[in-house]
Amino acid sequence: MLNTLRNRFEQGYRTTKYPQEKIELWKRYRGRPQINKDAQNDLALACAAACPQDAIDAQNYLIDMGRCVFCGTCERVSKGKFVAFSQDFEISVSEKEHLITDGSLPDLAAHAREHFKKLFGRSLQLRQVSAAGCNACEADLNVLATPFFDLARFGINFVASPRHADGIVVTGPISRNMKTALLQTYEAVPNPKVVIAVGCCSLTGGPFRGSPEITEGLDSLLPVDLYIPGCPPHPLTNLHALLTFFKSST
Ligand code: SF4
Ligand code: SF4
Repeated sequence: MLNTLRNRFEQGYRTTKYPQEKIELWKRYRGRPQINKDAQNDLALACAAACPQDAIDAQNYLIDMGRCVFCGTCERVSKGKFVAFSQDFEISVSEKEHLITDGSLPDLAAHAREHFKKLFGRSLQLRQVSAAGCNACEADLNVLATPFFDLARFGINFVASPRHADGIVVTGPISRNMKTALLQTYEAVPNPKVVIAVGCCSLTGGPFRGSPEITEGLDSLLPVDLYIPGCPPHPLTNLHALLTFFKSST
């Protein structure tokens, strides 16, 4: 018992103070991409040719964060002169077209829907549906329950049954085999309900885009309220999105 107490005392308080206090991520973390509008078009074309996700529009100097897997190839190819990744993890949006960006993003708080804040600002219960995800998006959602993030302190929890949920969080490219289960889970959630797409797979099909086995984009099946890009999105990206979109003040 004494050992347990001593250990607890030595460990101290480990929960992050984010969002009250900023968090600096490791410099190699790739967050919001920033495009240099003054870069030579040759560089843009080289990056577009190297991009495995066909996410770069070399004519208009834009990146589709819904497709991007944040592999860093474009930054390496251009030596940071066309694309450079910042450490900004607050990259979620409420409209899919906002994912196509030169690096500037609208303020998510300004696009939050007030009725969601009224309904779910104090208590938000979510059912996670892994629709053929690789388990990385799912793992980085799970980690929100650990003491460092402690999602439950904000009144947000993941629940086992869709009948107890206020909405669904979908990961994965939505394989044909998972489509029916996903739609049935959505139907089982009582109205009003929210739909959150997490990771480039659920946003656009991600690395599986073009396969006849998947659905390219959750929004083609369900009305999506919140898009969280990444492969996988950092837990802080998920946390920022949930707090900004659903909480009145954090
Ligand atoms: S970081 Fe994104 S845009 Fe750049 S090459 Fe990789 S997938 Fe393409
Ligand atoms: S978005 Fe990336 S990490 Fe998430 S399920 Fe798809 S491949 Fe895995």
